[in-house]
Amino acid sequence: MKDYITIIGGGLAGSEAAYQIAKNGINVRLYEMKPKVFSPAHSNHNLAEIVCSNSFKSNLHTNACGLLKEELRLLDSLLIKIADETAVPAGQALAVDRDVFSRRVTEELKKMDNIEIINEEVGDTKHLRDLIDEGIVIIATGPLTSDKLSKEISELIGNNDLHFYDAAAPIVTRDSIDMNIAFWGDRYDQERAKEEDVELWKEMAKNIVNSDYINLPMNKDEYEKFWNELINSEVAKLHEFEKREIFEGCMPIEIMAKRGIDTLRFGPLKPVGFTDPRTGYRPYAVVQLRQDNKEGTIYNLVGFQTNLKFGEQKRVFSMIPGLENAEFEKYGVMHRNTYIDSTKLLDNTYNYKQKNNVFFAGQITGVEGYVESISSGLVAAINAVNKFKGIDEKKVFSNLTMIGALADYISTQNDRLQPMNANFGILPPLDEKIRDKKLRYEKLADRALDNL
Ligand SMILES: Cc1cc2nc3c(=O)[nH]c(=O)nc-3n(C[C@H](O)[C@H](O)[C@H](O)COP(=O)(O)OP(=O)(O)OC[C@H]3O[C@@H](n4cnc5c(N)ncnc54)[C@H](O)[C@@H]3O)c2cc1C
Repeated sequence: MKDYITIIGGGLAGSEAAYQIAKNGINVRLYEMKPKVFSPAHSNHNLAEIVCSNSFKSNLHTNACGLLKEELRLLDSLLIKIADETAVPAGQALAVDRDVFSRRVTEELKKMDNIEIINEEVGDTKHLRDLIDEGIVIIATGPLTSDKLSKEISELIGNNDLHFYDAAAPIVTRDSIDMNIAFWGDRYDQERAKEEDVELWKEMAKNIVNSDYINLPMNKDEYEKFWNELINSEVAKLHEFEKREIFEGCMPIEIMAKRGIDTLRFGPLKPVGFTDPRTGYRPYAVVQLRQDNKEGTIYNLVGFQTNLKFGEQKRVFSMIPGLENAEFEKYGVMHRNTYIDSTKLLDNTYNYKQKNNVFFAGQITGVEGYVESISSGLVAAINAVNKFKGIDEKKVFSNLTMIGALADYISTQNDRLQPMNANFGILPPLDEKIRDKKLRYEKLADRALDNL
């Protein structure tokens, strides 16, 4: 094995990883394709470029990303330290001067004489398989990994496990769903007694609890009002480079709705196979929610991949009976995003199960967001260091912490990974039930920091 660790990609995750490894006295070779090659969203010559908003979100501990940042401060994250130092006024949010931030990260990494920065595109003259043969590699090339390297990554992990677009539906907390309206059950479970009387149907439907799905029935009036708002709601702007291909694989619900008033009722909101326990009859339409984490604390809206603005998602989807007071832990997004199916491929230290000298970090693992990418870079690096030193034990963060819960979420066997940002829904619930959201988040944050 060579006397260095290779990192591919000098973005947020790769830069954090480089620091964490180098400060342990281990040599780092950091491959960054800029300034020779730029992705469609990058333009700055420095490392750790912030490609869009300059906000690292809230600093409050009652905000999941605020908690994650605090955990990263306690773990000596270089990038969060520099973000704090280069902050610009933004209320309780941490926003940075993006140019100064990237320049400072680059300067700090260049100061460390055991980091060698190599400005080359891996997949062009240097190849992934050769780097992997040489020693420990962290792949941190982000949501816009170059085409050449994407090809080499899919050769490594298999074609079906590398995705290029992210079409995610919103996710709500289970406790915020009105279970006086919602009912449990898979399609057709409730219609088995079709010819029996209505009272029997009602009883049967009531008795199903904890199936994989929660169903939200709608009558004609509710459905038509919802449909009308949906087709008139405001969508988020896509980047130029995303416009061409984004909708090829997966149609947003608002576009599907525009095809006709009944299109959704014959598609994702099909009521066939359901009986509303309140009426004993088939509803006019049904929205299904599917369990999203192993604790069953968060549920996604099935078929609701959307490009609506976040505020519009809250307004329009809260019109669905049973979601009036829903807490949205994550909004739906549709964007260009290269990521691997980590649920199958990685463990909760971001280590590739098939070749344990390979780690992935950053958005390519299915974590989503600046701070989340930094956190995965830090965890992958700590574990790469252990591997380098021949320490068998892995450094796994408790899933009671946000940093650990994220690693746990993306690596837990599921249908197929939906990228995830920091949110309180992925933490195991508290022992006590606390209705007040702020107080609940405070307790979850205290528990996380105690655990860390
Ligand atoms: C257009 C866009 C807007 C976004 N906006 C936000 C936002 O506002 N807020 C937010 O929290 N998150 C946002 N994200 C999501 C994400 O958090 C950021 O993309 C974040 O930068 C991801 O960090 P990363 O380290 O995984 O990847 P990046 O920061 O993108 O770093 C990857 C690095 O790898 C390099 N690279 C790629 N291929 C190769 C190769 N073959 N060889 C060598 N180097 C290579 C790239 O040049 C880049 O420097 C956005 C993503 C995109 C694409």
